[in-house]
Amino acid sequence: MPDKDLCKSAIVVGGGPAGLTAAIALAQGGIETVLVGRRPAPGDNRTTALLAGSVTALATLGVWELCADKAAPLKIMRIVDDTGRLWRAPEVKFAAQEIGLDAFGHNIENRHLIDALERRARGLPNLRLIEDAVFDIAPGERSVLLALTSGETLQAPLVIGADGRRSLCREAAGIGIEQHKYPQVALTVCLRHSRPHRDTSTEFHTPGGPFTLVPLPGQRSSLVWVLDPADADELAALDDAALSDAIERASHSILGKIAVEPGRGRFPLTRVNARRFARNRIALVGEAVHVIPPIGAQGLNLGLRDAATIGEIAIAARRAGRDIGGINALAQYDQMRRADVGSRTLAVDLLNRTLLTDFLPVQGARGLGLYMLDRIGPLRRALMREGVAPRGSRPRLMRGEAL
Ligand SMILES: Cc1cc2nc3c(=O)[nH]c(=O)nc-3n(C[C@H](O)[C@H](O)[C@H](O)COP(=O)(O)OP(=O)(O)OC[C@H]3O[C@@H](n4cnc5c(N)ncnc54)[C@H](O)[C@@H]3O)c2cc1C
Repeated sequence: MPDKDLCKSAIVVGGGPAGLTAAIALAQGGIETVLVGRRPAPGDNRTTALLAGSVTALATLGVWELCADKAAPLKIMRIVDDTGRLWRAPEVKFAAQEIGLDAFGHNIENRHLIDALERRARGLPNLRLIEDAVFDIAPGERSVLLALTSGETLQAPLVIGADGRRSLCREAAGIGIEQHKYPQVALTVCLRHSRPHRDTSTEFHTPGGPFTLVPLPGQRSSLVWVLDPADADELAALDDAALSDAIERASHSILGKIAVEPGRGRFPLTRVNARRFARNRIALVGEAVHVIPPIGAQGLNLGLRDAATIGEIAIAARRAGRDIGGINALAQYDQMRRADVGSRTLAVDLLNRTLLTDFLPVQGARGLGLYMLDRIGPLRRALMREGVAPRGSRPRLMRGEAL
């Protein structure tokens, strides 16, 4: 590939939310972009709690206006200790108003978010969408060659691997992983309820893991129930009426009468961390580079920060006439994402382990931590600010600046 072409084009592999966001950011910044991906499998009933920075980034990319009416604001977050253990923590309530925000973020069903991203992507003249799978990836010195199942081949100086947890891009780049499987499963379901949620998300900490209700528009909420796999199977086998009753009991009827909607998801909890974020002209984003348990709404928020960061770096390189997939750009990406992803992974892992442990001192430390958060206003506000907009990682899109 001649020098003049090393700053012009990129290929994104994977049409999930992280890949679509990266492709839109690159194309809007003037890079000729191709996205190759199959549509996500139908029937994913998950929702995503998008924190304020992610919402700002999607608004800056022209996506949020296409789905804002399908999202519910998260104004209050409650943590309730439902472990029934000797040292129980007090209930802790975080209010967005306390840190001058109207909402911590918004919760939206994944299908609506992906639909809005696809609509925005289709409207960009320098973004080509190919509904297909990549089956071979060959990184070279000056470009990466991709073979599609249709027989078409593509080539670019930068490939964004957004192809999920079993990433072919990661393998082709020669990047290894560290993996941990937790003895838990997340059961997901959307539901209707007779009492209003008042824009409040409630997380019950139970001995099996968190049971989290997150508001959706109207008198609807989504539930992520983390529990022992056998218990999850037993619940998933119940009919709608019995499952609704079980959820109402577990939620102490805070939302009144519950009626589950069709569709149930079952997600074994794993943690996967790629050893590097980028190598051999391939930069990984989203679950291709980190999978963390669905606790504390971090996964896709991290994925969107990956997408915003690689977009920012590649567009700056293009404007300066530099190689957008070269060693310098990729090293900068790795350096900018490492601390953010590492610290969130650790926090989620620790919180989950403190729930599972029977070791009294650890249970006590968790209770004390929550007690301090409840009592010490500045500490609580610092944690809220860091949760919504991490100081160490605020890509330009998350600050509302176009690339
Ligand atoms: C129960 C649950 C609740 C969650 N809740 C939240 C939350 O509230 N907030 C939050 O921030 N995160 C949450 N997450 C995490 C979030 O859902 C994930 O981070 C996100 O879906 C990952 O998106 P992605 O684009 O990286 O990957 P994916 O959505 O997996 O997309 C990858 C895409 O790549 C495609 N692909 C794969 N291989 C190829 C190939 N060879 N060629 C072409 N295409 C390919 C696939 O078909 C797929 O469409 C939750 C996760 C779970 C399990």
